[in-house]
Amino acid sequence: MLRARMGTRKKVHAFVRVKPTDDFAHEMIKYGDDNKSIDIHIKKDLQKGFVNNKQTDWSFKLDGVLHNASQDLVYETVAKDVVAQALDGYNGTIMCYGQTGAGKTYTMTGTTENYKHRGILPRALQQVFRMIEERPTHAITVRVSYLEIYNESLFDLLSTLPCVGPSVTPMTIVENPQGVFIKGLSVHLTSQEEDAFSLLFEGETNRIIASHTMNKNSSRSHCIFTIYVEAHSRTLSDEKYITSKINLVDLAGSERLKKSGSEGRVLKEATYINKSLSFLEQAIIALGDQKRDHIPFRQCKLTHALKDSLGGNCNMVLLTNIYGEASQLEETLSSLRFASRMKLVTTEPAINEKYDAERMVKNLEKELALLKQELAIHDSLANRTLVNYDPMDEIQIAEINSQVRRYLEGTLDEIDIINLRQIQEVFNQFRVVLSQQEQEVELTLRRKYTLIDKNDFAAISAVQKAGLMDVDGHLVGEPDGQGFGLGVTPFSAKPGKKAKSKKMFKEQLSTSARKEGASSPVGGKDLDFSTSKTQLTPSSKEGDVKDMLMRDRETSSTEPLPLDSPKEELRPPRPSTPPPKPVAFEDFKNERGSEINRIFKENKSILNERRKRASETTQRINAIKREMDMTKEALNFQKSLREKQGEYENKGLMIIDEEEFLLILKLKDLKKQYRTEYQDLRDLKAEIQYCQHLVDQCRHRLLMEFDIWYNESFFIPEDIQVSLKPGSSIRPGMVPISRIVSLGEDDQDKFSQLQQTELPEGPDSISFYNAKVKTEQKHNYLKTMMGFQQAHRK
Ligand code: ADP
Ligand code: MG
Repeated sequence: MLRARMGTRKKVHAFVRVKPTDDFAHEMIKYGDDNKSIDIHIKKDLQKGFVNNKQTDWSFKLDGVLHNASQDLVYETVAKDVVAQALDGYNGTIMCYGQTGAGKTYTMTGTTENYKHRGILPRALQQVFRMIEERPTHAITVRVSYLEIYNESLFDLLSTLPCVGPSVTPMTIVENPQGVFIKGLSVHLTSQEEDAFSLLFEGETNRIIASHTMNKNSSRSHCIFTIYVEAHSRTLSDEKYITSKINLVDLAGSERLKKSGSEGRVLKEATYINKSLSFLEQAIIALGDQKRDHIPFRQCKLTHALKDSLGGNCNMVLLTNIYGEASQLEETLSSLRFASRMKLVTTEPAINEKYDAERMVKNLEKELALLKQELAIHDSLANRTLVNYDPMDEIQIAEINSQVRRYLEGTLDEIDIINLRQIQEVFNQFRVVLSQQEQEVELTLRRKYTLIDKNDFAAISAVQKAGLMDVDGHLVGEPDGQGFGLGVTPFSAKPGKKAKSKKMFKEQLSTSARKEGASSPVGGKDLDFSTSKTQLTPSSKEGDVKDMLMRDRETSSTEPLPLDSPKEELRPPRPSTPPPKPVAFEDFKNERGSEINRIFKENKSILNERRKRASETTQRINAIKREMDMTKEALNFQKSLREKQGEYENKGLMIIDEEEFLLILKLKDLKKQYRTEYQDLRDLKAEIQYCQHLVDQCRHRLLMEFDIWYNESFFIPEDIQVSLKPGSSIRPGMVPISRIVSLGEDDQDKFSQLQQTELPEGPDSISFYNAKVKTEQKHNYLKTMMGFQQAHRK
């Protein structure tokens, strides 16, 4: 939620403050007329004493030289703008640099005894609170913290306050996307100037005490006083708020190590100080170099803690404190060098804008309410009765569910559209109803049929033996109607896959008799009569029928009939052993089945012819497509040629050459051909689908008739047959065979008519009616067979 509004690039401001002295080196230190530069000149005879190089003149360009300047003027010049901008969301950093005693602490903190001599810190706090008063439109909070870095250790100068608990873990510098912060450093909310001052004094006191009790050399420590500002607009609709911080840094003395002449512990300290300041210098040099993208911030605690306060998006000011005395000129030179380096650093101050999540939610809620009102007005203007746009409750959803059900049943013509939510719920309920129906269908199927995994060969083989399944792995009577033993590949089936599964299946088959039966040629296709029964495989309650079917299958083999079989008593022309089904089928096709067999073959040849035509059309379409592509390519080439040679235009008309014109004509013609052929193909496909259904129908009927004929010819006692003949007396529970066993001629006619009338509108209806007729047939057939069995037992 943090966003920084980018500003323009800015240089770091570098000022120099000269400590007042009676012994000012007028001959050596000269200020420019604009007060923005310092020239240093060293006399030849003095040079030898402290400078190694031969240079005698230096000129430093700065943003201002403060000589004999009051604390007031220093604040005005150095800090005022930075603090003012912090209230607009810009981070600011003000650092004092210089050798010990040059006036850093005086500049930053000032004297605590004399109000007039107060430094930047108290003045900055004052300015912040004054500006808050001037901005009643904003709720602005101020927090402060005071950190000391000594010997690479972090100290909280405000940890002595009663509100701060004892620190358990040492403080660490933590980086997150929002910036750098010191974990464990206490941050104090201050609601007024006075509180802020108390905190400042507390910190200053601790600084002094620490330097005594811990034997710290205060000139060797860096102190960072931070003011955190957070401004929320009092206008509640304003979700944005700004945050900023002002770092006021009093650095350790910058004097060189050799000057201190210290040893042991003090020497170690001195080394550290110089180290962290030299790391600061390195970071500053890197920041000033436009080509550098890596800034070594993490080399020491100081630069790491100030990482987001150096350069970057801050307003930055460096104030270098120098002595004006000749004896300090060497340190003064090195301080001025640091200052001019700092001037090379550019920053890009930016506002730290954040979003108040709670306010955003509130505002969105408000807007939502407003939009609902708008909708209500809109509805009443559009004469719609009050529409509810709230989420639906259970009752409303149940009502929609019922509407969907009624719609599907056909008792409801249409579902009125009310609003978007309702439309979505209607679709939702469609899905609910659909999945429920799917489950119901599956449940019904499971109750009625035994479902077998098609990959479970053992199970399939068992079922196969029981005669409940055909070679294609379809359960006999499987509703898709594709598996009635004739190996005609359905129009939509993938031939490769089918052939493979079939082969695997044949390997599962054990009896050779079946295999022989499976290769009876009908129109060049396989016929397998041992499995061509069209009976259903009932699961439990029709178990006796199943027994019957199994016996029927046994009798169809070449084995002799059991001795107690009543068939022995049949009249002489009837063979004592029925012929194998494949042989019988050939006879049947020449006798009673000749007509249906002829129609079957005819339909098949029509189907094959249509398929051939479809394939030819497809080839033609592909050829046309290829030619179209080529023409397009040629045309593009012509076009690019024209563009390369420069186009000719005549009164806004493009002039193209004859070749390109002819190509355009050709492409147009090809497109026309393509459309025509495509239309033809679509028609052909519809025709093929229709023919396929007819062929299936014929095949089915052929097999059905054959089964009946076979049973009649070899098994059903003649007396029963007589009584079954139309016109004769019908036994209870029995239906005339002509009506049951085959498609009754009336039914067949009806069916043909149906197909003719239904097809033009939707070829899909065929499968529906097909299935319906088949189911009726099977049902009737089973009933009849049961009847026969009962008759047999009697
Ligand atoms: P530093 O913090 O750089 O080591 P101080 O701020 O402690 O130096 O200054 C050393 C002494 O000089 C202090 O007593 C301070 O009051 C005095 N001093 C420094 N600068 C000024 C100034 N501009 N006007 C008056 N006194 C000053
Ligand atoms: Mg100091």
